[in-house]
Amino acid sequence: MEQPIFQVAIDGPAASGKSTVARLLAQRLGGHYLNTGALYRALAWKALSLGLHPDTHPEEVVEMLKGTTLAYRLRQGAPVLHLDGQEAPQEALRTPQVAAVVSQVAKIPALREWLLEVQRDCRHLGIVIMEGRDIGTVIFPQAKYKFFVTASPLERARRRLAQTGEVPQGATLESVAADIARRDALDSTREVAPLRPAPDAILIQTDGHTPDEVAEMLAAHIRQTP
Ligand code: C5P
Repeated sequence: MEQPIFQVAIDGPAASGKSTVARLLAQRLGGHYLNTGALYRALAWKALSLGLHPDTHPEEVVEMLKGTTLAYRLRQGAPVLHLDGQEAPQEALRTPQVAAVVSQVAKIPALREWLLEVQRDCRHLGIVIMEGRDIGTVIFPQAKYKFFVTASPLERARRRLAQTGEVPQGATLESVAADIARRDALDSTREVAPLRPAPDAILIQTDGHTPDEVAEMLAAHIRQTP
C-alpha cells in the first residue's frame, strides 16, 4: 500500500508547548515529527562556535552558509538532524547562549531563503508534523492541517522555567517571561516570515490542558476532517 503524504503545520510562540504536542501527535498519526526551531538553533550554534556576531554582522552568517550542510536524515525510521555531516549537538542547541541569539539569526532573509528547501524537502518523508513559526504561512501553505498553538505569557514562562538547560542559572519567573517576550517580539516583527497564524489555521489555547489533551484535540480534528 502506498504511504500517505500530507503535512500538519503547527506554529506558535516560544514555550507554548507546541514541540511536545507535535511529538505526541506524530506518535498518534504514525508520522514524522520535525522541529524547525532546531534548524535555526543549529545555525546560531555554529555561528557562535565560529565567533561570529549575528546581531551586528549578519553578513558573516550568510557567508558561513556557503560551507554548511543541514538536513534531516532518517535513522531507524526517525529523522535526525545533521549539521555538516555530523549529528547536530541537541543539548548544545538548547543553551541560554543559543536562545539569546537565535532570533537574530532567524531574521536574516538570506538565511531563511537558504532554509526553505531544507524544510520543504521533508515532505517526501510521508506524514510530516512540522513545528515552527512560519510552517502554515510560508513553508507549507498548502498543508492539509494547520494549527496555531499558544498559551498565556505566564503559563509559557512557567513551562520554560520547569525545563532544565535552556534557562540561565538563577532565572526567575519574571526574567524568563522577559526573555520569552523579547524573542516573541523579534519573531513577530521581522520583515520576512514573521510569527503569525495562517488565515486558515485553527487556534489552540493550551492553558489548563495537558500536552496529551491538546494532542488529542488536534488528532480529533484531523480524524473528523479527512
Ligand atoms: O521553536 P524554538 O523556540 O526552538 O525556535 C527557536 C527560534 O528559531 C525562534 O525563536 C525563531 O526565532 C526561530 N524560528 C523561526 N522559524 C521557525 C522556527 C523557529 O524563525 N519556523
